Amino acid sequence: MFHWFNKNKEYLSCSWLEYGIYFSFNGLYHCCMFSHSHENDFPVSLPNANLTYNFKDFFNKKQLIRKQQRRGIINNRCLGCFSLEKKFWIPDNKIRKIAIGTNTACNSCCIYCTTPEKRKMLNKRPDIPIFEFFKKAINKDMITPECEIEFGGGEPTLMREFEDIMNYLLDKNFKNIKIHSSGIKYSSAIERALKSDCCELVISPDSGNRELYKKIKLTDKFDEVWGNIEKYNNAQNQIKTQVQVKYIIIPKINDSEENIEEFFNQIIKYNVKLIRLDIETNWFIEHNNPKDISQILNTVKFFINKARSLNIKYCNNATLDAIKNQYRDLYSSFIQD
Ligand code: SF4
Ligand code: SF4
Repeated sequence: MFHWFNKNKEYLSCSWLEYGIYFSFNGLYHCCMFSHSHENDFPVSLPNANLTYNFKDFFNKKQLIRKQQRRGIINNRCLGCFSLEKKFWIPDNKIRKIAIGTNTACNSCCIYCTTPEKRKMLNKRPDIPIFEFFKKAINKDMITPECEIEFGGGEPTLMREFEDIMNYLLDKNFKNIKIHSSGIKYSSAIERALKSDCCELVISPDSGNRELYKKIKLTDKFDEVWGNIEKYNNAQNQIKTQVQVKYIIIPKINDSEENIEEFFNQIIKYNVKLIRLDIETNWFIEHNNPKDISQILNTVKFFINKARSLNIKYCNNATLDAIKNQYRDLYSSFIQD
């Protein structure tokens, strides 16, 4: 559709490379996947970018990347990435994807996130001043109205500027906001966004009883989190389902039928409409073989059958989707869509 101004050429690229910006604790990047490499020299990053938001410099770098992509040069780190697609890309200087994953403070301490020692260190990290970016970029008309804006870990509601940023985005009519929260601290800005159909909220208690919650989160906030899920649920505009409660299956921790039954008891009690299901990513990296995957898919099957029998909507999260893609036949022998 847009090929008339794109030199009539389809090419392999991804929406992050073309239009994305990722806020990390140490600067701005083109996508969040760099964090998977643990390397500082990821060539599509912006290692010299500071937080003065020099947009000219930023878009010049984007143009250089686009030039490479058009010539068919794919960065090694991007090879095989599921985000790559061949199509006509819009060549304008607009931001259409924003991810905020600054790895600063969190009020939870999930065993699959970082070790408790590292969490203590992360909790001391200062906030990154992101509100300034939004004000500048929106005033200069650099963010499209339909831009996807995603807040992730640390815990967004602990960011000093979070309520201000959210209220500003809502005032400016941004409707495509996604927030991953521990659910421990209630946010009136999230409530406002839910009421006006402008955000998806994902909370991952991963458990249906207090002891198990404590074991996974290393914090004793089970009742608070489910209480907040209920409040957000009541606030959400009922036309769209926006509050998503996630269950990350962690083998040997919360994968028994009893664990799953208890989780569904909470889902029913708090009238949750949409569940997001995933597999613990570190486990998948270490057990990426057909035998272990078969075992986990058996658990997934039990979980999904339970959701279906209760008529509760569910969807796969990223790691489960990756398993589904990699083990297509095996997956469909357990779960029929
Ligand atoms: S292709 Fe994948 S790794 Fe490369 S920039 Fe896009 S999302 Fe990141
Ligand atoms: S809520 Fe998110 S950021 Fe916080 S400890 Fe858990 S996984 Fe990490």
